[in-house]
Amino acid sequence: MSVVRVTTRAFSTARCLLKASAAAQPKMSEKLTTEQVLEREEKYGAHNYHPLPVALCRGKGVYMWDVEGRRYYDFLSAYSAVNQGHCHPRIVEALKQQADVLTLTSRAFHSDVLGEYEQFATSLFGYDKLLPMNTGVEAGETACKLARKWGYMKKKIPENQARIVFVEGNFWGRTLSAISSSTDPSSYGGFGPFMPGFSVIPYNDLKALEEALKDSNVCAFMVEPIQGEAGVVVPAEGYLRGVRELCSRHNVLWIADEVQTGLARTGKMLAVDHEGVKPDILCLGKALSGGVYPVSAVLANDDVMLCIKPGEHGSTYGGNPLACRVGIAALKVLLEENLAANAEKMGKLLRDELSQLPKDVVSIVRGKGLLNAIVINKKFDAWEVCLKLKENGLLAKPTHGDIIRFAPPLVITEEEMRDCIRIIKETVLSFAKS
Ligand code: PLP
Repeated sequence: MSVVRVTTRAFSTARCLLKASAAAQPKMSEKLTTEQVLEREEKYGAHNYHPLPVALCRGKGVYMWDVEGRRYYDFLSAYSAVNQGHCHPRIVEALKQQADVLTLTSRAFHSDVLGEYEQFATSLFGYDKLLPMNTGVEAGETACKLARKWGYMKKKIPENQARIVFVEGNFWGRTLSAISSSTDPSSYGGFGPFMPGFSVIPYNDLKALEEALKDSNVCAFMVEPIQGEAGVVVPAEGYLRGVRELCSRHNVLWIADEVQTGLARTGKMLAVDHEGVKPDILCLGKALSGGVYPVSAVLANDDVMLCIKPGEHGSTYGGNPLACRVGIAALKVLLEENLAANAEKMGKLLRDELSQLPKDVVSIVRGKGLLNAIVINKKFDAWEVCLKLKENGLLAKPTHGDIIRFAPPLVITEEEMRDCIRIIKETVLSFAKS
């Protein structure tokens, strides 16, 4: 059978399917129910997530609405991407305006926005240069490549011998490199073989780091200042200063993965600001767009960044005009609305109140700013607690079975926060009674 005939038949089958699916679709006026939304995703989508059974169709500030019109507080913020609140008007406006003018040039050409964005972000964070990417994991990949290149060019590590040190419980995404450094079997299991040249040491352990950095082939140490996906694990005060000191002493680059902790989430613009230290390579993502578009970035000084030459790294969409405009707007909103200060204040209120919950249900409350988690006593199921929170109008997601992250958009007001605290307390107490 000729290729042409196969193609023609495939297209006509596709057309039939389109017609059939149009007939099966509810009319414009008919809205899908939650159940229908869930069933459709289950049937046609890959099963690589296990979402809470809620079907959302609208978001504004700290709120989201489901297809039946129920309103919820968002206590996840799309894993800290929506720090500025859902559909922030200034960020959406920046997106819309640029969308009418120029969306993508690729990096084969210059654009009139990229430099403006790079200048703005580098002066804000105090680095010489920025390398734009799209997702958080790409920022991590870029940082690792940059560190290896620096290792060979500047530290004179023998060819193909460069090592990067990570910590237990790290999470920086789902690519093969990212899972190669993972200590979570659900991340790496069944996906080998893995990237060579990675070592893993315990988190929050400066002695282990000092030992690891003695290997002269180590080019970088990559770490989250607070571990997000591991369940909001906050290291001891002084850990980040220790990391800075050890990396400098051993001529090793410190890569700070601030994709989740960065951009006002923990009560400072960057989580490393809590200890007044500066990484050699900074990874940003998520809230760099306020949740409207994938925007990530790696920042470093010339000594490191200029090790990568034209043609050695990039991305078709990285640094596109839409992303740049959105990035500038997202950063300006964080600064001009003082969202770091609000995160600090609201986070303290949340932790103070939740610490009063009965310890036989909530054994631990921890976090910084508005990146928080509670640990649910093993005799209860964190998933069940989240389902009950949903029923009571608040959306949160469990991680690792017994931890629930509480990370609302940073625009939350005190009144809204007190209402959320009431919901959480009532929900948790209903378990204590059961
Ligand atoms: N780094 C950290 C610390 C993260 O928490 C995540 C995602 O949760 C990533 C990197 C990956 O980001 P993305 O999902 O945008 O690739």
